[in-house]
Parts: sequence; structure tokens; C-alpha cells
Amino acid sequence: MTSISQNLHSVEQRIADIAKHCGRDSQEIRLLAVSKTKPESDISAAYTAGQRCFGENYVQEGVSKIAALAHLFDIDWHFIGPLQSNKSRLVAENFAWCHTVDRLKLAQRLSAQRPEHMPPLNVLIQVNISDESSKSGIRAEQLNDLAANIRHLPQLRLRGIMAIPAPEPDYAKQLAVCQRMAELYNRLAENYPEVDTLSLGMSDDLDAAITAGSTLVRVGSAIFGARQYPTSSE
Ligand SMILES: *Cc1c(COP(=O)(O)O)cnc(C)c1O
Repeated sequence: MTSISQNLHSVEQRIADIAKHCGRDSQEIRLLAVSKTKPESDISAAYTAGQRCFGENYVQEGVSKIAALAHLFDIDWHFIGPLQSNKSRLVAENFAWCHTVDRLKLAQRLSAQRPEHMPPLNVLIQVNISDESSKSGIRAEQLNDLAANIRHLPQLRLRGIMAIPAPEPDYAKQLAVCQRMAELYNRLAENYPEVDTLSLGMSDDLDAAITAGSTLVRVGSAIFGARQYPTSSE
């Protein structure tokens, strides 16, 4: 076994253990392998080990990996990074999911740019649940309006919500934030039957996120190892 397949299996085991502990079915929780900055060979290794959902944060990097790995046709590619409107077309044309929709204008562009021969783009609305200083994500009070508007867009399918909570070492505080997200999610799912995805939980808050009800956890370094970002001199 490669270390990537070992890491993948231990993350899957961790998810199963947490689910069991809080009385959930681990089949309800999907693992998104976050492969940003990692080479295509690492993605292939995870694919060989059975992983099918991959997340990328940077548009150009993601698009070139999708092209290079087009032979792995059953990969589900998720865009999970901040998205500027001028890069929306590349996401609409290449990814299956976008987790970071936080304004109507962006949603409208993604719908208009999604090619007709492709199934609708699955979208999540990003909610700024805890981090006052972050500019990403809408406030919880804005969720209903944006959701109602997105549902009218023909080439998008609203699947749920996503958050990146501010780093917080205390478990009880992590859980409180994750539960606020779960409440928003449950209310949305009551209104809209196609809503089935709460994208919440990374390596450091996996326990709280799954306990609160996450259905999609996003894990990078625990699978692929620590990331090295190029320095500005490169
Ligand atoms: C990088 C990233 C992750 C994964 O983070 P790790 O700490 O490597 O597990 C998850 N979600 C988002 C939005 C990210 O940008």
C-alpha cells in the first residue's frame, strides 16, 4: 500500500468511528479529498485506492488536473476555493460542483456559462458562520433569499450549504458553530427536497462537524501530507 492509500483508509476509519460514536450511519458522510497543490500522481494514487471525489481551490490548477486526468472519467470534481466572477466560466465548464457560491451575480454567470450538454452544476451556498473578519460567504439572514433565487437558474442545482468556520481549538465552541450550520441546513432541506449536502468539517473540526450532521467532509493534508506553497522567488 502507498502512504496515500494508508492515509485515506485511516481518514475513512476516523469518519466511521466518529459516526458510530454519535449514532450516525457513516454511509451518509462523503469524503472529499482536497488535492490542491498536489500533483496528478497523488490524485491517481488516491483514485486507485477507491477515492472518487476530489476538491480543488485554484481555478487554473484544477482545470489542468481535470484535463490531465480525463481518463479517470468517474471522478467528481468539486471547486472549493474563492471564485472571482471573471473565472466563473472555467468552473462552469469543468467542475461537477461549486461550494463557494456567495452572491447572485456569480450564480447567474455559472448558470449561463454551464454548457447545455452537461448536467446542471451542483452548487452550495457558502455561509459565513463564525468569522466576522472573513469576506467569504453570506450572512445566515441572507440564505433564504439567495437560495430562492438560485433555484430559478436552469443550469444550477442547489444541493446545500458550506462553511469554513474560523479556527477554534475548543471542542464545545466548534460544536456550537457546527450546530448553527446544521440548523440552517435542516431548514433549507425542509423547503427544498433536492438539498442533501452540508459541506462542513476539515481535519481539525471533523469530530464536531460529523456530530452536528455534516454530510461532506473536506480533508487534504491528512490524506496527501502537508502542502508546500511555492515561495515568491520561484
Ligand atoms: C484546504 C482546504 C481544506 C482541507 O484542509 P486540510 O487542512 O488540508 O485538511 C478543506 N476545505 C477547504 C475550503 C480548503 O481550502
